[in-house]
Amino acid sequence: MRQRKRVFSRGSVLYIRFRDADGNLVRKATNTDDPRKAEELAIELEAKALRQRRGLEPLPAKNGGGTLGDLMLKWGETLTGPSANGTRATVAKHVLEHEIARLTLQQLRPSDLVNFLADLKGISAATKNHVRGHISRAFNTAALKGWWHGANPVDKTKVPRVPVEEVDETEFAYLTTEEIRRVCAALAPKYRPRFAVSVFCALRKGELHGLRRKDVNLRTRRLTIARSWDRVPKNKKLEIVPIPTECSPWFEVALKDSEGHELLFPGPDGKMFSRDVRLAEVLRRAMVKAGIVDHWKHYCRKHGCDHEEQRPDSEQRTCPKHPGTKLWAKGVPRTINWHATRHTAATLHVQAGASQAVVQRLLRHSTPKQTARYTHLRADWLGGELERLSLGIDPAIIDSTSTQQPASSANDDGESRVDAGTSAVQSDNWPRSSTG
Ligand SMILES: [Zn+2]
Repeated sequence: MRQRKRVFSRGSVLYIRFRDADGNLVRKATNTDDPRKAEELAIELEAKALRQRRGLEPLPAKNGGGTLGDLMLKWGETLTGPSANGTRATVAKHVLEHEIARLTLQQLRPSDLVNFLADLKGISAATKNHVRGHISRAFNTAALKGWWHGANPVDKTKVPRVPVEEVDETEFAYLTTEEIRRVCAALAPKYRPRFAVSVFCALRKGELHGLRRKDVNLRTRRLTIARSWDRVPKNKKLEIVPIPTECSPWFEVALKDSEGHELLFPGPDGKMFSRDVRLAEVLRRAMVKAGIVDHWKHYCRKHGCDHEEQRPDSEQRTCPKHPGTKLWAKGVPRTINWHATRHTAATLHVQAGASQAVVQRLLRHSTPKQTARYTHLRADWLGGELERLSLGIDPAIIDSTSTQQPASSANDDGESRVDAGTSAVQSDNWPRSSTG
């Protein structure tokens, strides 16, 4: 009797056709490209509608099953696994606190989501895409569990992923060895071991603070990375990385200061260090204190005055709106966050001669592509590296190459000034690459 096809396609989108709770034949876009999955969804939705017609299940709410906020909360409760808490926190912070959470699922249009993503301030494109993905998955779960039968508004054509910004080379997200020495001295002592260990061992912030004293073995010089904060790490694996000799004393200091605790870098109360502590601020303040300043912000402190100017120096200036009033100057470092210590580790290890493969292992990346994004190879360093290659081509060959001979040695028939015999001698005297 069922002759109609349950699944059909329009362009690149697969649609399903099924009878809803009111007995009407309806069609619905899916976000799968697997016809079998689409068919399964159609069968499930139709079976569910049939149960509803028979009164076995409550009918969907006429307002469209509540608001986006309700859906995100309900979906959050279904999450399990190591990232569940993090995902719920991201959703709470970026979706539930935004007015979009108050729209009902029926009101919500893809354009609302596009505007919402554009409206999210102060977070990276990657985080915006995480938020976008969470909303999309919530709708998929809603469809599977029968919470909501409308289309998923997170459609890749209507709500495109947010493009990841091009990395600005001038704003390199790592510190040079010279800057590290200065920042280390400028940091409050309690932050120095965290900083040094991060720069040597390329630890993520969560891995650093999840370290237990027993994870450090200074005899075998092995560091076990088994946790991120209090959970299993990102790649769900226990990893062991070597502790470089020069980094050992920093671990010794940390071990001494954490005596009596389980954690290597505990917070002031001995418990896990608070995730809310703005380590990026700690790092940036130390940079300013160390004189690593990108520019200076001069501002007026007179009540109600918003005058502010950016200057390359801290020269004393006065407010144009309040003649005679001196402006305050505040050093501003380049854009950098604590995660830059991991980029620093990758970059400096490669610059010090470690191969990309070794650094990939240290960063615990599964592909070289990931590692490549962490190694910022500046033109000045690259230039030096490229000096290492010597082909040893006889300079006489070079001299004889130009057709524009100097006036004194030019000859009319264009013959080379150098014969084979002399070129052989010169070739032997030509210095080899000094670095070999
Ligand atoms: Zn002023």
